[in-house]
Amino acid sequence: LERKLKSQVIIFVIGGPGSGKGTQCERLAAKYQFQHLGMGNLLRAEAGQPTGQGRQIKDIMLKGVLVPSGFILDLLNDNLLKREEAKGFLVNGFPRELNQAKAFERVGRPPNIVIVLDCSTETMIQRLLLRGQTGHRADDHEACVRQRLETHYTLCEPVIGYYQQKNLLRNVGGGPEDAIFAKCCSVLDSLP
Ligand code: ADP
Repeated sequence: LERKLKSQVIIFVIGGPGSGKGTQCERLAAKYQFQHLGMGNLLRAEAGQPTGQGRQIKDIMLKGVLVPSGFILDLLNDNLLKREEAKGFLVNGFPRELNQAKAFERVGRPPNIVIVLDCSTETMIQRLLLRGQTGHRADDHEACVRQRLETHYTLCEPVIGYYQQKNLLRNVGGGPEDAIFAKCCSVLDSLP
């Protein structure tokens, strides 16, 4: 992986459930012509497979807990290599726990930058429950939302500190979509 992904920009986009990762990544991918890899999207595709593994992943996601890191790393590596020709990657929803961050570096290299969407808990809950009403994601109901937030605060938060120490973290805060997009753009524009 290391030898193959030398010249590509790798950006991790992290933040709580409903913080706007998917929305921002889609807009950024269009503007910068980067490849958007949403871990949740990739996992939902896996969960739709009529296999034992598909069912297991689906169950895990419906509980609002994390899919085992070994599987996540394989899924990410496969998808990075599949799009080797891309000039950059926006990886949405990775890493979600400290061991994923460290494991990624063992097989490859650190990301160029990590963007964190720092959104208030109330805003995240409101958005997820609203999205739940339109019914397109089975995990957007109250019990699951509560568990995803819990997972986020216990397992994902330490990842933020880890990248802070490495001076790779860019906190674009919370707030209206366009303001966040502008901040994300200035982060990307500042990359060498
Ligand atoms: P959200 O951020 O709104 O929870 P995602 O689509 O990013 O939505 O993720 C949905 C679910 O997929 C998570 O609740 C988790 O079960 C699983 N998942 C996504 N990314 C990861 C990851 N990096 N490691 C483990 N599980 C993950």
